[in-house]
Amino acid sequence: MVWVPSAFVAEWLTRRLHSLIRKTLAEIIGRDIDIQFTVHNQDQLQGDSAHANQTDGGTSTKAKAARFNPKYTFDSFIVGNCNRLAYAAALEIAENPAHTYNPFFIYGSTGQGKTHLLHAIGHKATSSGLQATYISADRFTNEFVLAVKQKRVEEFRNQFNSIQILLFDDIHFIANRKQTQQCFFHIFNELYNSNCQIAVTSDYSPEDMTLLSNRLKSRLECGLITSIEPPDFETRLSILRAKSEETKTSISNEVLQLLTDRIKGNVRQLEGALIYLTAQAKLTGEELTLQTIDRLLTGITSKQGRKMVIQAVADYFNLSIEELVGRRRDRKTALARRTAIYLMRGERNCSFAAIGKELGNRSHIAIAYGHKKIVNEIDANPKLKEQIMEIRRSLDLEETQKAERSLM
Ligand code: ADP
Ligand code: MG
Repeated sequence: MVWVPSAFVAEWLTRRLHSLIRKTLAEIIGRDIDIQFTVHNQDQLQGDSAHANQTDGGTSTKAKAARFNPKYTFDSFIVGNCNRLAYAAALEIAENPAHTYNPFFIYGSTGQGKTHLLHAIGHKATSSGLQATYISADRFTNEFVLAVKQKRVEEFRNQFNSIQILLFDDIHFIANRKQTQQCFFHIFNELYNSNCQIAVTSDYSPEDMTLLSNRLKSRLECGLITSIEPPDFETRLSILRAKSEETKTSISNEVLQLLTDRIKGNVRQLEGALIYLTAQAKLTGEELTLQTIDRLLTGITSKQGRKMVIQAVADYFNLSIEELVGRRRDRKTALARRTAIYLMRGERNCSFAAIGKELGNRSHIAIAYGHKKIVNEIDANPKLKEQIMEIRRSLDLEETQKAERSLM
């Protein structure tokens, strides 16, 4: 670990000189080593120790920090080409809030580490004595709705006074909620004008959120917008390695590589697969060999995944699974079926043939046709897009719960 004074130095060294420095060091010490450039400046070191020395300062910082997930820190975040800029900018704003990138907007598909980065900002900022507040858009909505009912909107809004960093997660959630958006817009303006740093995440880019009001969109577009892409092979491998070390499971390199190769989805799926496999191995006493992994993986990635989508779509449209995969052709059922096709294709990367098999033995041509149709429908209909987002979210939840259950 090499300490450097700012995120940009870290970014620059990593990009331009990483392999040269690594090679040179390897030649000097005679073995290959990994180096990471981590930001730490003198001021902050002094700030930290000053805090530790204060009797009450220490505890109050702790109390604030406790609101953030202890696992989601900058240190535990694996950096790769897919997320380098988002990481560097997040680090920069945690250290110098409201300086350069305000507001800061991160978007990327689900499970790629957006929430993780927001919490990391929160940890770092509060540990240097700043007041940071994290809130997800759905909690914001619930609290706002309650405040309206109880006629306490003013009070609700006041809780955001005098904070220095607002971390607002999953803004797409309020895209179709007009009043909530209005309230957020006002809070946003007040905070922005009093030089508060605002960091926002979303599953979609501002321009893709057709239902978000234009005035809010243009505010968001004033600052830095970065995306997180799905991780490439190298990053997936590093993440798996880090997670397996964290959980103290010894898994051979070969196996890790196979896993990396087979699970191309988001980081949450990678984590889920690792948890599932380790649990299976523990329960059955089987060793995690290439063969067992292969067998187990085929289970989670394809069939189970498709079944989960079908169940979620059926639930959402209030249909039974039989109706969904059956021959009914009324509008609702047909739309539900196309939605299932869309999700299996997009989320699970399934072939049209495999989807057809799962959906009542339909031909791959029928599935391809349905897919094309729903893609156009989504383009033309923001409400439908919103509904599909909702199903995707429920799938995500289920996956996490499933992974957790298999751990117990
Ligand atoms: P998002 O908010 O984008 O849907 P999360 O931040 O909830 O995704 O990430 C999902 C899981 O994957 C979390 O457990 C998180 O710690 C982990 N994760 C995501 N990206 C990374 C990364 N680059 N390094 C380490 N863990 C990651
Ligand atoms: Mg999230």
